[in-house]
Amino acid sequence: MTISYKDRAAQLSLPGQIFINGKRVDAASGKVFDNINPGTGQVMNQVAEGDLEDVNRAVENARQTFESGVWSEIAPKDRKRILIRFADLMMEHKEELALLETLDVGKPISDSLAVDVPSSANCIRWHGEACDKVYDEVAPTGPGAFGTITREPIGVIAAVVPWNFPLLMTCWKLGPALAAGNSVVLKPAEQTPLSAIRLAELAVEAGLPEGVFNVVPGFGPTAGKALGMHMDVDCLAFTGSGEVGKLFLQYSGQSNMKRVWLECGGKTPNVVFADCLDLKKAAEAAAIGIFYNQGEVCTAASRLIVQDTIKDQFLEEVLKVTETMQPGDPLDPDTTMGAMVEEKHMNRVLEYIEIGKSEGAKLRCGGERVLLNQGGYYIAPTIFDQVKNSMRIAQEEIFGPVLSTITFKDADEAVAIANDSIYGLAACLWTGDVNKAIGISRRLKAGNMWINCWDGGDMTMPFGGYKQSGNGRDKSLHALDKYTEIKATWFDLS
Ligand code: NAD
Repeated sequence: MTISYKDRAAQLSLPGQIFINGKRVDAASGKVFDNINPGTGQVMNQVAEGDLEDVNRAVENARQTFESGVWSEIAPKDRKRILIRFADLMMEHKEELALLETLDVGKPISDSLAVDVPSSANCIRWHGEACDKVYDEVAPTGPGAFGTITREPIGVIAAVVPWNFPLLMTCWKLGPALAAGNSVVLKPAEQTPLSAIRLAELAVEAGLPEGVFNVVPGFGPTAGKALGMHMDVDCLAFTGSGEVGKLFLQYSGQSNMKRVWLECGGKTPNVVFADCLDLKKAAEAAAIGIFYNQGEVCTAASRLIVQDTIKDQFLEEVLKVTETMQPGDPLDPDTTMGAMVEEKHMNRVLEYIEIGKSEGAKLRCGGERVLLNQGGYYIAPTIFDQVKNSMRIAQEEIFGPVLSTITFKDADEAVAIANDSIYGLAACLWTGDVNKAIGISRRLKAGNMWINCWDGGDMTMPFGGYKQSGNGRDKSLHALDKYTEIKATWFDLS
């Protein structure tokens, strides 16, 4: 008899403590907070509420470990071996990590198994493999000097991550930060602390010295701020909202001028030209691009910008695909769309739907909370037509399953609409004309350009945004720029 994911989830022991110096500990205050399953609305477990004292302890340990050299000064090939073992262990624990992620986030178990855990492990593996393949530089000086340009770990990295891809966002920071030899203190989002705590235990089991990777669950304005303000944190890597990203820039200015790297929000324009070669594929991508992960994706293709001559026909295709993507129990392997992460966020998304209606956009499907009998926070995939780019639903990041359809007449208008946003994380373009694809992608202000696809890329491609979508890049060797100092050493040979 096969055991259902629901039964397996019920048998799991849920981690709920702070992880410092290789050990699970309670919060110094003894405080805990309820961790709620968004699929059912029920409390799953209590999690230690880290605060200033716990952050201080974690940073102190990370500093001691860094200075001891047990990680920062070992041979790159030894760091590689441990990180690859860590990635292997993650895959050995794939089902456990996937269940923790689904229980915490409300995302479909099939996605956690197929995407979140393997992509996270792959990120650790990729950066692990890079450890002994990245060379330093010798400067092209004249004969009287010898100049080396070398990368060094920065020291103590604090990472503060969001709730939509808790494991993946953690690994996007952790992989390059550890590969470079740093020590890390991570604060997961208060909605989704489980996978990060378990991950830290697996890292130690893989051979990462104790104290190199510490996890302090807790709330943003307390534990998050304490990391941002800490005088002994050298660099803060953040993924989350622009609003909080700006706070981290302030914290840095008010404390030790720590480097701050921001991966913030987006309002991805998905531009479909009438000469798109495969409108069916584009329609599928348009629906998946906004409804995948319940629309809780920084690169969600939330603005569908379609050429006016094909808009009606194209929207019908998108509506057809949407019918197949209705929300369901996140633990059911057939579910393709799960629950919103928490009640507060669900209400925020529902509010935006009301705003869209009052702004005069035409609701074509969804627009309401569903599956109330499950007790969780489900919203039907929602599509608005006749949206103007100036409307709030087209300008503000909703971070839910809400699509805004906007039309354009020609390429200039498409570019103007797409760029009329405070964000610049990603943009998609659908056309069969290669000149148009290259020309327009050069004009779009986005860190990630996807031509005839949504969310293309792998670990070899950097990820990050223009404008208020942030700075710096995750993934690829460019990620190392965030977690290394560059030392220029001049040898006078005269
Ligand atoms: P959020 O900004 O509310 O929270 C992110 C993290 O910051 C959490 O750990 C939270 O506890 C902490 N935080 C909150 N308030 C704080 C404060 N006052 N001081 C210090 N820390 C604080 O974001 P969220 O709601 O968890 O996630 C959604 C946002 O994340 C969206 O805007 C989304 O676009 C963005 N995101 C961006 C990317 C990317 O790579 N660009 C990826 C995923 C999510």
